[in-house]
Amino acid sequence: MRFKDLSFVILTAYLISFSSSAYAKLHIIIDPGHGGSDKGANYYGIKESDITLSVAKKLHALITKDNKLQSSLLRSKNNNLSLPERVSKAQEASGDLYISIHVNANRNRSIYGPEFYFQSQLSPDKEALYLAGVENQELSDKLRIRNWEENSWPAIKTAQGDLRNILFDMQRISHIKKSSKFAQQLYMNWQPKRRRKSVSLRQAPFYVISNSNMPSVLIELGYITNKKDMRKLRSKGFQSKVVKSIYNGIKEYQKRLLL
Ligand SMILES: [Zn+2]
Repeated sequence: MRFKDLSFVILTAYLISFSSSAYAKLHIIIDPGHGGSDKGANYYGIKESDITLSVAKKLHALITKDNKLQSSLLRSKNNNLSLPERVSKAQEASGDLYISIHVNANRNRSIYGPEFYFQSQLSPDKEALYLAGVENQELSDKLRIRNWEENSWPAIKTAQGDLRNILFDMQRISHIKKSSKFAQQLYMNWQPKRRRKSVSLRQAPFYVISNSNMPSVLIELGYITNKKDMRKLRSKGFQSKVVKSIYNGIKEYQKRLLL
C-alpha cells in the first residue's frame, strides 16, 4: 500500500473515531448485569441480578423522560444473557454510551463503596484482574478475539498487516480515552467531593466494556457482602439516588460533547 493510501485510511479512521452524535439524541445502552440462572453475587438472601435489574429499569424510566436522551435495556426480565450477546445487542442498537451495572462481593466484609471501571490501558492490578475474571465468567480467548474483530471500525476489517495493527491501536486508544471521560463524569457526579473518599475510579479488562465500540463504563454499585452497603443496595430510596447520580453524569458528559 502506498503512503498516500495509508494516510487516507488512517485519516478516515481518525475522523470516524471522533464523529459523535453530539447533536442527536444520545443513546444509552443500559446493561443490568447477570440474570436468569446467573444470579451474580448472592448474599443475605439478596441477588445481584435483582438489584442490577431494578436500578437499570429506574435509570431507563428516568432517561425516557429526557427528550435529548434515549435508552435501551439489554434485559428487562430475569433472563440469561451471555456477555457476547450483550455486546452484540448494544452494537445492533447503535448505542452511544454503554453502562454495565453490577454489585460487588468480597470475602473481607469490611470492604465497601461503589467502583467505576473503564477498559484498562496498563496492566491492571491483581485485584482488578480477579474481579474481571469473576464478571467475565469463563470466555475463551478465541471468542474474545472474534468479538473484538466483529466490533471494530469498518476500515480495520479491510486493512491488513501493519496498517491493521495501527488502526487497532488507534481504535483502542480512542475507546479508552472516551470511556475514561465518561467514567470520570459518572464518578464526579456520584457524591460531593468531600464524601467521595469511598468511591473508586479504576481500570479493568471486563469483557463488556472492552468489547463494545462505544464509550463504556461498568459500575459496581457497592459490596453486597458489607452490611451497610447491603442495606443501602436493597433500599428503593438509595437506588433512586444512584439512578439520579448516573443520570446527572450522563448529562454532564453530553454537555461536554457540545463544547
Ligand atoms: Zn456482577
